[in-house]
Amino acid sequence: MSDACIFCRIVGGTIPATLVASNDHAVAFRDLHPQAPSHLLVIPRRHVASLAEATDAAELGALLLLAAEVARSEGLAETGYRVVANTGNDGGQTVHHLHLHVLGGRAMQWPPG
Ligand code: C5P
Repeated sequence: MSDACIFCRIVGGTIPATLVASNDHAVAFRDLHPQAPSHLLVIPRRHVASLAEATDAAELGALLLLAAEVARSEGLAETGYRVVANTGNDGGQTVHHLHLHVLGGRAMQWPPG
């Protein structure tokens, strides 16, 4: 937990977010600037800077399972969706607390920009 980390503060409840689901390891909430009709972020409760620093397989498994759960609850399971972990500068990561973007509700393009 770091007071300097905006996502740690969302987990701690000192910054508001629209929470949609959680499990022992992870919390899911709506992205403030949605890039698709459904755009959620799934983050570990513990501060982990990025996927490059992740070491706990149970925690990573819980993140992915929660991503699939919120995709189902958003009604995306039939049509499909995208899960993205922007990692580091070239990956386009701007918040340095590991997060999975879950995007859906429209057809995605490939390759991403
Ligand atoms: O992958 P990246 O680090 O760029 O994504 C960070 C995401 O966190 C952005 O999509 C941004 O809109 C979101 N965000 C948020 N709530 C905040 C701060 C950032 O949903 N308070």
